[in-house]
Amino acid sequence: MSIICYPWKIAGLTIRARPIRTWTYSQEIYCSVFLQPVTMEILRTICLLILAVVHADRATYDKYQVRRVVPESQEQLEVLRDLEKNSNGLSFWVGPSRVQKAVDIMVPPHMLPQFDEIMASLNLRSEVYIKNVQHLIDTERPKVRPRADFGWTDYYSLDAIYAWLDSLVETYPEVLIPITVGRTYEGRQIRGVKLSFKEGNRGVILEGGIHAREWISPATVTYILNKLLTSQDPVMQDLVQSFDYYVFPSVNPDGYVYTHTTDRMWRKTRSQGGNRCFGADANRNFDFHWLEIGASSSPCSDTYAGSAPFSEIETRVLSEYLTSIADQFDAYLTFHSYSQLLLFPYGHNNDNVSNYDELLALGQAAVSALANNNGTQYAVGNIYSTIYPTSGVSMDWVRGVFNTPYTYSWELRDKGNHGFLLPADQIIDTAEETLVSLIVILRHAKEKLGRN
Ligand SMILES: [Zn+2]
Repeated sequence: MSIICYPWKIAGLTIRARPIRTWTYSQEIYCSVFLQPVTMEILRTICLLILAVVHADRATYDKYQVRRVVPESQEQLEVLRDLEKNSNGLSFWVGPSRVQKAVDIMVPPHMLPQFDEIMASLNLRSEVYIKNVQHLIDTERPKVRPRADFGWTDYYSLDAIYAWLDSLVETYPEVLIPITVGRTYEGRQIRGVKLSFKEGNRGVILEGGIHAREWISPATVTYILNKLLTSQDPVMQDLVQSFDYYVFPSVNPDGYVYTHTTDRMWRKTRSQGGNRCFGADANRNFDFHWLEIGASSSPCSDTYAGSAPFSEIETRVLSEYLTSIADQFDAYLTFHSYSQLLLFPYGHNNDNVSNYDELLALGQAAVSALANNNGTQYAVGNIYSTIYPTSGVSMDWVRGVFNTPYTYSWELRDKGNHGFLLPADQIIDTAEETLVSLIVILRHAKEKLGRN
């Protein structure tokens, strides 16, 4: 919804050369007032009322800060873990994993004094990484929303993404088939497309948006799909001929819609399990070492693994679909944010997968190519040692159950300055550099597996 308030047009009063005051209440309501002070106050009230109606049911994060803390001892690490488990109100954007690994914590304004006291008692320095989360939410999307179709200069709603998929299927009916893997808890379709230029190809699966608030993920996945269809680059065209692509921009549609309508920082699904908290972390809900480590059994936690493996309809139908084509794909690629990491299995322990050396070397080649684009630096490694121990994630389930040889997860931009709220003007650069790394991986897979 977009409301622009031009009071001078309503009142028809003198327009001054420059605004007396400008208020930016949110990305969606922009109100510049050029009027005499008394009229200005009346119109300001009208604008505030409109704002109140539009945003009445929307979570706000005014003056919420994101603090970065680096634990330097096991004791400090344990206290942070304890805080993550038991604190109502703190939200761990990057959870505690090990000593010397940065932890990002969103702190509400009323908890800041208490938070500072705890940090001081632990002898821990906390750095203000984001001063006002709401400000980043308000400035994440362009002030003037592009009217044209997809252009990757803005983040799009689920409806817009699905309408775009429909238009692609209409434009490329010979090579694109729509896929619906099932319906969500709230009854939405989980949709994707299969891109196939010839019979007998093996598949590459792109999974986006399993974590609702990581908007750069569906944006990157749709960008890559568009490039697969339209690129004139001979290397890309060769890769498009050599594999079938199953592309799912948003496998957690309820959560994604919720981040657009109600709470920008929502991560989980939207199921209701009979307690006061909603949803489970879909990427802790897969039936592979479920709930062993790095996942929570508390329904209110952001990393709640669900009441059972595949308790969430979204992961259940996706897993059933993947099982139905399991003998047909070579690669499973998932897209998350943030941290700038390229990860491969596993998360539940530090044991090497059988082709660990290959995945590591290939990952390093991929991020080195990625860095050549814009200088963006990524680290590479298995989930367990590179980000944090975790279990029940989709990529590990695919690798563990189907032994798919090439499975990677991107933790896309940035490294915490915006966190999940990456400005839309970084979508194209992010997606483009990601595509470069993807090409390195797929070229290797094609050659190694003899696909043509
Ligand atoms: Zn994620």
